[in-house]
Amino acid sequence: MMNLIDTHFHLDYYKNYPEIAKNITEQRQYTICVTNSPGVFMSCKKIISETRYLKFAIGFHPRESSLCASDIRDFTRLIRLTNYVGEIGLDYSSESYMNKQQQLRFFSQVVDICSSENKLMTIHIRKAEEDAITILERYKPNKVIIHWYTGNRANMKKLVDLGCYFSINTNMVNSRASEKYHLLPRERLLIESDGPYTKVNNRKYSPLLLKDAYEVIAKFYDNPDLIRDVYENFKRILSV
Ligand SMILES: [Zn+2]
Repeated sequence: MMNLIDTHFHLDYYKNYPEIAKNITEQRQYTICVTNSPGVFMSCKKIISETRYLKFAIGFHPRESSLCASDIRDFTRLIRLTNYVGEIGLDYSSESYMNKQQQLRFFSQVVDICSSENKLMTIHIRKAEEDAITILERYKPNKVIIHWYTGNRANMKKLVDLGCYFSINTNMVNSRASEKYHLLPRERLLIESDGPYTKVNNRKYSPLLLKDAYEVIAKFYDNPDLIRDVYENFKRILSV
């Protein structure tokens, strides 16, 4: 049996996180636990021990309007502690988030650092696809996962052409816009839970449901080898 992989999970959003962390390691599910800021990343690392299966990513979320230049300095200083970066990105969907100019400046800086350090990024893009593409074109990072893509097909194709991978969750394949996800190349697919934001067969996501989530998505793609494909894809993106 191959290990299941979850490339985008919010462990710190669960009240019972010690138990959830234990489940992840007991189930031997490789899990990238994203955070929203360098501060949260450090707290998580202090409170929860990482294992072979559970890793924390250092984040810089565009929705966190309180993040500022000193957080970018922390980000630059702390990035050596992990191979994984997220959640980062651009989000123009609400006025209450970080302002657009600041988002653009910080996201450029983060992508610049990650490209030169060759870190794996899990990226959130909401109503900002063109700007995200411009920045990715500029720095040409090797290890990019677009998480919960909601943009149009033309921009999705541009991101594929840039070498990006895409992480798919159960809510995406159950949405009205799901048809476009069939256009993604099989060798670029990864699986994310984005727990606690998703449901698997009407149940709030927990790591004990990752296997069921894979089944739902395998059915959508009509691909009985999804577990193996995702394993191979993840191995490949880590090696580039
Ligand atoms: Zn997320």
